[in-house]
Amino acid sequence: MQRYTPSRKDKMLELRPTCEHCNKGLPPESLEARICSYECTFCANCVNDILENVCPNCGGGFVPRPVRPAKNLKNDNFLGKNPASTKIKYRPVDLDAHALFAAAIKSIPAEKR
Ligand SMILES: [Zn+2]
Ligand SMILES: [Zn+2]
Repeated sequence: MQRYTPSRKDKMLELRPTCEHCNKGLPPESLEARICSYECTFCANCVNDILENVCPNCGGGFVPRPVRPAKNLKNDNFLGKNPASTKIKYRPVDLDAHALFAAAIKSIPAEKR
């Protein structure tokens, strides 16, 4: 069995630094970070209260973002080697447009969209 040794070229979760809608800080250890399958990143409050579990960019649902270990527990697979992104993606959602978009989608479970 080959062990996993990610290189710089590997695609991995970006761990974006803030909520795309409200710009709240979402450090890598945050338990409030939510992501869609495209890594659109929002805080739990925005996902629950504003987005209603509908990603404004793709229409998919959200899941809690996993926490990358801060300590080197195994094979250099940790934040020290693969740090979180520092590139802020702050694109507040157009709330009226999202309400229309989400109206038809939010009642459908994410796995059936
Ligand atoms: Zn937010
Ligand atoms: Zn999305």
